[in-house]
Amino acid sequence: MTKEEIKNRIDELKKLIKENNEAYYVFDSPKITDYEYDEMYRELKRLEEENPEFLTSDSPTKHVGDKISTGFKEQKHKYRLYSLDNSNNYDDLKKWYDRVIKDTGSKNDIELVVELKIDGLSCALSYENGILKMGATRGNGIIGENITQNIYTIKDIPQKLNKPLNIEVRGEVYMPVTSFERLNEENIEKGIKEFANPRNAAAGSLRQLDSKITAIRDLHFFAYTLISEDKTLFKTHYEALNILKELGFTINPNCTLVKGINPVIEQCRKWEFERFNLDYATDGMVIKINDISMQNELGYTSRAPKWATAFKFPPEEVWTKLEGIELSVGKTGAVTPVAKLTPVQLAGSVVKRASLHNFDEIQRLGINIGNEVLIKKAAEIIPKVIKKRENEDLGVYKAPERCPSCNAELIKPEGEVLLYCPNKDGCPAQIKGRIEYWASKEAMDIDGIGESIVEKLYEKGLVNDFADLYKLNQEDFMQLDLIKEKSSDNLYKAIIDSKTPTMTKFLTALSIKLIGKETADLIAQEFPTLESIKNAEFEDLIKIDGIGDKAAKSIIDFFRDEKNLQILKKLEEYGVHPQGSAYTKISNIFEGKTFVITGTLSEPRTIFEEKIKQLGGKVSSSVSKKTSYVLAGENPGSKFDKASDLGIIILSEKDFEILSQGNEQVIN
Ligand code: NAD
Repeated sequence: MTKEEIKNRIDELKKLIKENNEAYYVFDSPKITDYEYDEMYRELKRLEEENPEFLTSDSPTKHVGDKISTGFKEQKHKYRLYSLDNSNNYDDLKKWYDRVIKDTGSKNDIELVVELKIDGLSCALSYENGILKMGATRGNGIIGENITQNIYTIKDIPQKLNKPLNIEVRGEVYMPVTSFERLNEENIEKGIKEFANPRNAAAGSLRQLDSKITAIRDLHFFAYTLISEDKTLFKTHYEALNILKELGFTINPNCTLVKGINPVIEQCRKWEFERFNLDYATDGMVIKINDISMQNELGYTSRAPKWATAFKFPPEEVWTKLEGIELSVGKTGAVTPVAKLTPVQLAGSVVKRASLHNFDEIQRLGINIGNEVLIKKAAEIIPKVIKKRENEDLGVYKAPERCPSCNAELIKPEGEVLLYCPNKDGCPAQIKGRIEYWASKEAMDIDGIGESIVEKLYEKGLVNDFADLYKLNQEDFMQLDLIKEKSSDNLYKAIIDSKTPTMTKFLTALSIKLIGKETADLIAQEFPTLESIKNAEFEDLIKIDGIGDKAAKSIIDFFRDEKNLQILKKLEEYGVHPQGSAYTKISNIFEGKTFVITGTLSEPRTIFEEKIKQLGGKVSSSVSKKTSYVLAGENPGSKFDKASDLGIIILSEKDFEILSQGNEQVIN
């Protein structure tokens, strides 16, 4: 590039960044992804470093944030707020650490605190004599917006501390992902524009001129900075975090104190994947020097501290082209569209397909083959399509009329969003799907029997339903072109070994519409034998908490269907006998009680579920009048609100422990 071209590019980048800053910071409505923004920002920073003659004081690389909204009173910060420098690769992280070691003259590795970078909106809270007096957004770091009234509505923020301190507390206001999705669903229903992501939803909710609106949004706060004039209060950042906790603030539980840069990289690697299990958005990790005197020694640039840096995760969202729409027919006949994409890197892996859920969703997105679409990685393994480029109108993809597997005419049952192939017993895709599901981990867990083996067995006419698996012998498997480790002996043995499943596994494996593992378990707890399930009436089934009309009808229909009864008979003849419920009861303390679990608990949910069942109780996924208790962990979702509305007893983990020891005091 010539000098003139460089200057033009710098001017262009500055203009683009400023425009996007306004959309993001002032209107909470970004036009591009954070990744695209960060790429522009890094390019500008690099060009300015390589060509310092073009660096001007108004460059966005020299400033924090952007203009503040005119709707709020300006608030001058007592202590300036900064942004964070960031990188997206481990080499840069190591370079930052080497510079810190050099600048501080340290001979040994130094202590660092590694925290999740919460993707919300930073706020400064001022306490006088332990009373919350003022809350402000960061703004440009010198002047922010006074949002005190709105801050009062956030339950995680204590209005009175348990000590009369004069301090400033900083942290991130965020909206849990589930609440963000719910808010967007409501907005869609009301015809209001959706928020692009949880950060923008949090910012848009906190920066409301009417604090009543803020109050009804599910906002939370993680505190991460404590500032006090009393220099004896703490000597390290880690101590400060503990003090914040003692004062009643919520600290993100995933902070670690480490020594040297290698464990930092380990943490970054770990959270790059585990972040998808959290109910809040995080866009990276923040690495801070633990020792406060060392922090002061290093100081700040005009925009960011030199004693901290951020590592940004690979993007969760990326644009790519919708190359085609594949139609897949599931085991219950549901026809679902899957997006075929131009392969693209997303959150550390190459993505070629994304979920489109159903044809109503395609209609809502207004997309067609050829559109550029934004895809997002969420907790699910397969990413989903979020939207198409604005103004790129290629019409809308038309839902199919016939089954792509057997050509039967598709139907849309009343009240359902999915299209179904009604040809249950003749549609190859459904038959193979059911056999495959029968053998899957979630169902009978028959090792080695997957998609390709089922395909071969079906093509050779050896199986036509899952019961047929049990009539196969070693020779049948020898006819298949098997890879070594899937020897015919192993496959044969795995099938034989699966003949005595739990009732839950057996019921799950039958592929009854609307009956997944959890519902199957509820039924198995009530009806421990196959005979009792076959004879169950609709009224018996809907008495079970967690079984609604549709699920009950689906079970009745299944066990009245002649073809299904034939398959069950064959299973019996081949010696497949389900063995009652999956849980061994150890007492009846929870007899007749139904629990619903919500929020994050200290151990995986399954541990609590098992305990409830072992003590004779039942677990359901939704709160209703029939619910006896709601066991609530951290960040409980809408179930908590619903339980409060219905006056259902809400238990903490400690209450639960007491209750499970037979002490009912907690109930009163
Ligand atoms: P930043 O978000 O990259 O990092 C600084 C911020 O991190 C702090 O202000 C604080 O709010 C937050 N943070 C979260 N957890 C923290 C923790 N544990 N400790 C300390 N701080 C923590 O920087 P920024 O200046 O707020 O914003 C710049 C970023 O915003 C860009 O990198 C980009 O991702 C995004 N942005 C996007 C657009 C767009 O159009 N898409 C426009 C402007 C900015």
